[in-house]
Amino acid sequence: MGGLLAARALSDSHTRVVVVDRDDLPTLPADRRGVPQGRQLHVLLSRGREALEELFPGLTQQMRDLAVPLMDLHGQVTWYNDGHVMARAESSIIAAGMSRPLLEYTVRSRVAALPGVEFLPATEALGLVATPDRQRVTGVRLRHRDGTEQTITADLVVDACGRASRTPTWLGDLGYDAPAEEEVRIEVTYVTRVYRHEPHHLGGLLGVLTNPVPGAPRAGVAGVLQDGQIAVALSGVLGEQPPTDDEGMLSFAESLAPPQIAEVVKSAQPLTDAVAMRFPASRRRRYERLRRFPAGYLVVADALCSFNPLYGQGMTVAALQALLLRRLLTTGDAQLSRRFFRASARVIDAPWAIAVGSDLRFPEVEGPRPAPVRFFNAYIHRLHIAATADATLGAAFLRVVNLVDPPTALLAPGTVLRVLRGFWRGRGGARRVPESPRSTHPGS
Ligand SMILES: Cc1cc2nc3c(=O)[nH]c(=O)nc-3n(C[C@H](O)[C@H](O)[C@H](O)COP(=O)(O)OP(=O)(O)OC[C@H]3O[C@@H](n4cnc5c(N)ncnc54)[C@H](O)[C@@H]3O)c2cc1C
Repeated sequence: MGGLLAARALSDSHTRVVVVDRDDLPTLPADRRGVPQGRQLHVLLSRGREALEELFPGLTQQMRDLAVPLMDLHGQVTWYNDGHVMARAESSIIAAGMSRPLLEYTVRSRVAALPGVEFLPATEALGLVATPDRQRVTGVRLRHRDGTEQTITADLVVDACGRASRTPTWLGDLGYDAPAEEEVRIEVTYVTRVYRHEPHHLGGLLGVLTNPVPGAPRAGVAGVLQDGQIAVALSGVLGEQPPTDDEGMLSFAESLAPPQIAEVVKSAQPLTDAVAMRFPASRRRRYERLRRFPAGYLVVADALCSFNPLYGQGMTVAALQALLLRRLLTTGDAQLSRRFFRASARVIDAPWAIAVGSDLRFPEVEGPRPAPVRFFNAYIHRLHIAATADATLGAAFLRVVNLVDPPTALLAPGTVLRVLRGFWRGRGGARRVPESPRSTHPGS
């Protein structure tokens, strides 16, 4: 996804863009080996959908045409935050309920239709080619599936190889330092299974989710997808592993706060097997801090920073980086890597603070906990309690987790006042919202 979006950005400023991928690229929406996480539930956050719309005008309409539910994350989803049910209200925070293969396929089709873009599938990137003084990357060495090798030259090479990016090694081969890495281990295991959606599921709403909290490391999401499907993703942090067999999944789902997830697992017709995937740690590579970096080279998306997937941020951050790249290239490519990495670091700061900051609530997670992180986590917990009765707070929270507003927006004086007032009123415990069914898709 990062590579496709970078190709979109580059197609405005470069006459020829070649997208290289190790995989055969499917001609229909389908899982593939190079993206094992594609079989797990993927949520495209509201800011990500907006960014994709900017890159591919009309994409939201295409989603509607594909019968993708465009869900009001505040009005049509039940949020159990730290066990407290957030009051629902209509909002403009709209996410797409779309499987990862369908989203990727749709985006790839749009990229393939751009003038000058070519795909080179079944081809592995082996390393970089540089000028004799190694100041500039001039191309990339490739190996095709049949074993033949090729070098392509380029004004700009972009590494979008995902978490397994070999740029730190490739830089070393050219005599550069590897970037400093920040890693926060969370040991998440995800299990996703897709079922046939029935109108009565989730009380007629389009999604439900619950987060893990210290002492209760289990979480779950159920969300309606395209084509009358509903996906259930069970997850555990810190080594807690959801099972993949029917009985085990049901008992895991029954242990979660929202009863709606277990209801789907118990009664709905499965359409796929349950698939597990582990994600050990959020990892951020600080290329912006390197003093030397070759010209003509960039690193994007998961290769730059990969986040605990529980927060659903990766594709949105990749889309924001593509918008950034497109904007930076309008003033030429002088100092591009420096400008891109610095500005990307600012794009990453907020989602990184949200993901890692929340994970640091768990005492088992290793990492520094400066006072602002401890304060913010305590404050957000109080916000969740207050948001059981105050939909304005729920809206403010959702704008932040959807990367529409920065986390500091939650510290606006009016919001703080509402949190404190609501927290003292609501300290009795979670309140349940009335389950009024709303099954319409706002986007349809
Ligand atoms: C369990 C899980 C759930 C997730 N859920 C969400 C979610 O809900 N929302 C969200 O926004 N994000 C989610 N993500 C993150 C999201 O999948 C990524 O952020 C997103 O795919 C962007 O990654 P990428 O393009 O950098 O890498 P990838 O999507 O991993 O793609 C890397 C590509 O590089 C190719 N490749 C790798 N090495 C080479 C090589 N040497 N030569 C040629 N090709 C190569 C691969 O074939 C692949 O096509 C989740 C991740 C996981 C693990």
